[in-house]
Amino acid sequence: MAKAKILFVEDNKTQARVTKEFLEKNGYDVYWVEDGKSAIKSTREHSFDVIILDLILPDLNGNEVCRWLKMNDATRGIPIIILTAKNSIENKVEGLEAGADDYLSKPYMDTELNARIYACLRTKALQDELLRKNRQLEDLLSKVEVLAITDPLTGLFNRRRFETIFEKELKRAIRHRTPVSCMMIDIDHFKAVNDTFGHRAGDSVLIETAAILKKSVREIDLVARWGGEEFIVLLPQSSSEDAMRPASRILESISGHEFAATPGSRVTVSIGLANSHQVHLDTDGEKLINSADIALYDAKRRGRNRIELFREK
Ligand code: GH3
Ligand code: MG
Ligand code: MG
Ligand code: MG
Repeated sequence: MAKAKILFVEDNKTQARVTKEFLEKNGYDVYWVEDGKSAIKSTREHSFDVIILDLILPDLNGNEVCRWLKMNDATRGIPIIILTAKNSIENKVEGLEAGADDYLSKPYMDTELNARIYACLRTKALQDELLRKNRQLEDLLSKVEVLAITDPLTGLFNRRRFETIFEKELKRAIRHRTPVSCMMIDIDHFKAVNDTFGHRAGDSVLIETAAILKKSVREIDLVARWGGEEFIVLLPQSSSEDAMRPASRILESISGHEFAATPGSRVTVSIGLANSHQVHLDTDGEKLINSADIALYDAKRRGRNRIELFREK
């Protein structure tokens, strides 16, 4: 085990040498400085387990040093024991208010100092452990969150996540009266891809398709896997003419793409497009999605590998 590292701030050389020697004999690694500024500076260069701080220093007052150390994230967790010849209640209160963890009046017994250091180290070890556990927990939570919102195969947002963002975007669009478009995209004859090349090949077509979709739209557009071989794209601030451009790009990119897992065989998609200005929107947005779905069905019916725009009859 590494030795516990103590920052010892004391301007009285005779006193400091005696205490330093005692502490070193007790197995501590002691770093001694003689004034407040050097103390603060040394905390930037080393990491300490405990700080023993004299109150009356040639430059800064010990309470000021203490306050500074407790205000900084990097040093906040280091326990501070204030050592002082001033031992009135007011002095102690002032020190504790500045954030000191303990207070020891001079002259002190070395054994008492040692006991207090030990107590501080024990508290710090517990705090560090707690902090470590908290971090682990946070890591775990954020991983769980990522899993809950992404589709594991393609890495796109899943349907649930899409629906959450979709609701917000739609409310914004209604409030600002800006158009929003929605694309429903379905791979044509995907069952045949699986049947001909196998399920794994099908999976890799889904992955490549997802990448092409992401590449074909703007940063602000939202692409998600709706389910199976269906994808959905939300295009904020886009009229149907605006949305037609990325839709055509997607159609061409996919039909022109040589998918690694389906050599010699082309993959195509059908796209249904709906726009908020053509659809009388309800607040939950279902109507826009349903309309895109109806348009997609039309695209399938009319021969696939094409885009259809929803028009209210
Ligand atoms: P259409 O042109 O009318 O869309 O025909 P299709 O064959 O694409 O449509 P259908 O709904 O009949 O078949 C979809 C297939 O997609 C069936 C299902 O097994 C497959 N599928 C769904 N999810 C996955 C997946 O994650 N991986 C693979 N490999 N296949 C999937
Ligand atoms: Mg002093
Ligand atoms: Mg389908
Ligand atoms: Mg399909």
